Amino acid sequence: MFCKPSSSKNHSATCSVLQYADDTLLLLRGEVEDVQHLKRLLDQFSAATGLLINYHKSTAVPLHMDARALPQCIATLGCRQEGFPQTYLGLPLSCEKLKLTAFDPYICKTDRYLASWQASFLNPMGRTVLINAVLDGHLSYIMMSVALPPGVIAKIDKRRRGFLWTGDGESTGANCLIAWDRVRQWRSNGGLGIRDLAVQNICLLLKLLHRMHVGEQSSWAAWVRQHTCLATLSGDLQGPHWESLRSLLPLYQAITTVTVGDGQATSFWQDVWLNDECLSDRFPALHSHCKRGDKSVAATLSDGLRNQLVSRLTAEAAEELAVLENILSDVALSDARDTRHSPFADADGKLHTADLYALLKGVGASSGSPVNHFWGSCAPPRVQFFAWLLVHERIQCKANLARRKILPDDTCELCGRCPETVVHLLFFCDFAASFWRALGFDIPADMEAKNIRDLPRPIHIGKMHYDTFILVCCWSLWKRRNGITFRQETMTLRQTLQECKREAKAWSCRLPCTDQSLGDHWCNLFSLAM
Ligand SMILES: [Zn+2]
Repeated sequence: MFCKPSSSKNHSATCSVLQYADDTLLLLRGEVEDVQHLKRLLDQFSAATGLLINYHKSTAVPLHMDARALPQCIATLGCRQEGFPQTYLGLPLSCEKLKLTAFDPYICKTDRYLASWQASFLNPMGRTVLINAVLDGHLSYIMMSVALPPGVIAKIDKRRRGFLWTGDGESTGANCLIAWDRVRQWRSNGGLGIRDLAVQNICLLLKLLHRMHVGEQSSWAAWVRQHTCLATLSGDLQGPHWESLRSLLPLYQAITTVTVGDGQATSFWQDVWLNDECLSDRFPALHSHCKRGDKSVAATLSDGLRNQLVSRLTAEAAEELAVLENILSDVALSDARDTRHSPFADADGKLHTADLYALLKGVGASSGSPVNHFWGSCAPPRVQFFAWLLVHERIQCKANLARRKILPDDTCELCGRCPETVVHLLFFCDFAASFWRALGFDIPADMEAKNIRDLPRPIHIGKMHYDTFILVCCWSLWKRRNGITFRQETMTLRQTLQECKREAKAWSCRLPCTDQSLGDHWCNLFSLAM
């Protein structure tokens, strides 16, 4: 990569080298003399070691250099001339804002994964695991370094959504049974736990910001510290990448506190460095009179706080100034670097993105989601997925299909009288009602799908793993309905209870070892009801 020639001529033909494995980046001044010098060095290296450099596979990227010198520089090296973006260590490298096409390799990689999976053999829970573990995993690397544009996230989400609901790269609104926003909520909040890439991207970039502040050993962090003020991220480092990091600074400041040393890396107004509140929150009137609110602690204390303020203060601001000056009189800076602390960091100072992600997604805000207990039940994953749809009233019964205009009519095929809603099908349709009665259940008239877990438990049914027992029943009723609707099967009550017994026997292997005898208890219950 050639850089703009320096105006000073006293340089000694040096160049910076970044090398990782076999990916080498050489940065040198865009002058013929420097390029010839580099070529001689490389030739000598080849002669001495016998390692030949393949110039045909190398590229030269001119950057703000004299166009007249360019042809000779390229001819000297004998490599191809290219522009930005360049791929270095798998990341798109550019001095300008990256276009969406720069991220195509990542989208193509997603497509390759999707094409290689036999999606039709996977149930939705299997596909969920692949999305979380593989599709999202391969994006972590780029999301740790670069803010993905919303357009790229939309393209990837389209593929993830299609794969989840149809096993294909595409889906229509009719295929998506639950809104994508809901799907991306955590399970404890009623979602499916599919990762929200935009939020995950923010978490990973916060980790990058944190490394700038605490990365004692990182030469990259040391280089950043030389070129920018960490308190405000203002300085020599410009461009869209730094703007995106700068936009995350308020969030980073909100999740960290600082023990001030030299005060260089701490924002006077925005960081929490005195007590447990940032000064802009504690002294809002005074802060509103500040001409430049982005100074570091060191800069503010050396320039004097009053020099940052407008000349006329309101009575309230003057009062706050007196209090703040009194507090600052006790502050003494040292030569040590500022130290960052965060409740999201471990003892080694590493930021944990999982906890941050949970915070940003508001996990726990409605942790009483009715589906919570079913995720923890011993039902097979595909039945847990069914339970998730069930409590959201999104299983593909006729009322739901008619509502989305997929079917013209929503009449229940089993009784031919009522609309086939989730609750009707599983609790109030003639067959379902007799099924629950046979098992000794008394279904409340105001039964709702979201309250399915609160179905009153008959005394003879054990309390342990009651969630799993309810799912055995609902799953068997659903399978019976599908058998009748799609395969014209007939299943009597006795046959359905036998089916429940088979399921209970199979599922009991999934119970904890100490509770596996419960399977026999359930089988007895179904036998007695026949
Ligand atoms: Zn019915």
